[in-house]
Amino acid sequence: MERISWDQYFMSQSQLLALRSTCERLAVGATIVREKRVIAGGYNGSVSGSVHCIDEGCKVIDGHCVRTIHAEINAILQCAKFGVPTEGAEIYVTHFPCLNCTKTIIQSGIKKIYYAHDYKNHPYAIELLKESGVEFEQVELDYLHIDTNTKDKMYFISTLLQRLEDKGMDNEELKQLKQEANQLFMNVE
Ligand SMILES: [Zn+2]
Ligand SMILES: [Zn+2]
Repeated sequence: MERISWDQYFMSQSQLLALRSTCERLAVGATIVREKRVIAGGYNGSVSGSVHCIDEGCKVIDGHCVRTIHAEINAILQCAKFGVPTEGAEIYVTHFPCLNCTKTIIQSGIKKIYYAHDYKNHPYAIELLKESGVEFEQVELDYLHIDTNTKDKMYFISTLLQRLEDKGMDNEELKQLKQEANQLFMNVE
């Protein structure tokens, strides 16, 4: 088995954290790393002890859910709460940080942002990152490392699709199924 890279390892951790999210709008996870060690993690959710969006619905004001604290801020606050320096650290986030999180990340002394998915990448956030010298780099999750039988699943699905084609399935219908299969295995070789 191929050894997982640090980038994939930390991004997978953020992806797992995202599964803890309590907001239905978007599930985000963030992992703060220093010297190849995880020092904090967070996901987007309500203030501790408050109601969850998944139970009561989102609290939307001006098109945004205002109930949640974003994953990046939660991770940074975890450092604040327990007295762990963020200076010189790196952060792995599942989605490109919003403007507020970008400002908070820069101000916390974090030096590099790794993100898996583009998400409304704000031009001013990018401007601020460039200005402050905080690097940002996209790291796409390679699910082959996490889901150990992805290759078998892909093979199975492509065999099924081939059989449907051989049986003379309607072209449009087949095209649709192929598209759906491709979407399922997006970011996989
Ligand atoms: Zn919400
Ligand atoms: Zn944010």
